[in-house]
This record gives sequence, structure tokens and C-alpha cells, in this order.
Amino acid sequence: MIGAFYQPQLVLADIDTLQTLPAREFAAGMAEVIKYGLIRDAAFFDWLEHNVSALMSLSEQELSYAIYRSCQNKADVVAVDEHEQGERALLNLGHTFGHAIENAMGYGVWLHGEAVAAGTMMAADLSQRMGWLAQADIARMQSLFKTANLPIIAPNLGVDKYLDLMGLDKKVENGKIRLVLQQGIGKAVITSDYDAEKLKATLEL
Ligand SMILES: [Zn+2]
Repeated sequence: MIGAFYQPQLVLADIDTLQTLPAREFAAGMAEVIKYGLIRDAAFFDWLEHNVSALMSLSEQELSYAIYRSCQNKADVVAVDEHEQGERALLNLGHTFGHAIENAMGYGVWLHGEAVAAGTMMAADLSQRMGWLAQADIARMQSLFKTANLPIIAPNLGVDKYLDLMGLDKKVENGKIRLVLQQGIGKAVITSDYDAEKLKATLEL
């Protein structure tokens, strides 16, 4: 029914099916797991730093915990905001940049999660330029993504192409488009209060 929202009664995550995924697809999925640590769960980010190797070798105990904690975080966000306006937009961390990468490079050339990882590092770069995120936190993020076999450097498309693909070409001049940025690990914010020139510097790579 259009306009109606129903929450799922059950989320089934079958860990055995993960064993059948190509390694690259599994790594891409890790980008969304790491995302939960970055947007609202610093303790989970810490845990991921210590357990990423076990996860990458598909150890069941660690996989169960990572999936449980990811689902819990998503449920918490969705419960606060069932209608996808406010806090739920935090789930888009890395995705505005990431979608531009996917679109420009061709869907499937860069996997979604790969583009999200590189896009998350772009959001982090802008956050750092704004003085919101420490270099040490950037280094932690780079290290975790790298250990998860994810790219941390976005392709150089040029500023204009990025702005165009992000839908920001006109709107960015008003500074009104909202991006998900970070004010620390475990603290993402939805904001239009960033400097458009700093965004361009981020996109220049
Ligand atoms: Zn995604």
C-alpha cells in the first residue's frame, strides 16, 4: 500500500549463505557493517577493529555478533524514525558520494559497498576539513576499510562530474543540500552546514 509503512516481523540472516559469496562481494557487505560503527556505535567500531580478521575469514561467532549488532543499530534508527525523514538519513553515510562513484564507473564495475567505502572516506575528508574529525580517526577508518579489502581512494572524476552526479551542481551554491558527515567515530550528523569550497577541495582529491 503506497504511503504505508510496515516494519518486518522477522529478520533472518543465514550465516551459511555468506560462506558461498565471492570474497569481493563479502568485503563489499562489510562496508555497510562498518557504517553502523561510524554513524552511532563507537564501541562497535572498536570491536570491528579487533575482530575484522576473524570476520574476513568468516568465523561464525564473530559473524553472528556483527550481524546482530548491525541489525540492532538499524532497528534502533528505524524505530526512532519510521518515516525516513530525520535520523534514518544517517544510514546514507558515504552513499551520496558512493552513488556518484557507482554511476560514473558503471554499476557492478565498482560494487556498491566498494563505492560506499570510498565515499565514506570522502565524507570523512570533508568532515576533517571542517575541523570535525581528527586525523587519527581518519587513520583508524582507513586501516579498518583496508583490512576489510575495501578501497579508500575514490576515482578522480573531477569536481564538476562529482557535483553533477551528486545532484549538487546547482544546489550546492545555496549550501542547502544535506550530507551525512562525521563529528567523530560513532557520531554522524545530517547537515547542510558545511563549506562548499571545502566540499570542492574534497572532490578534487
Ligand atoms: Zn548501501
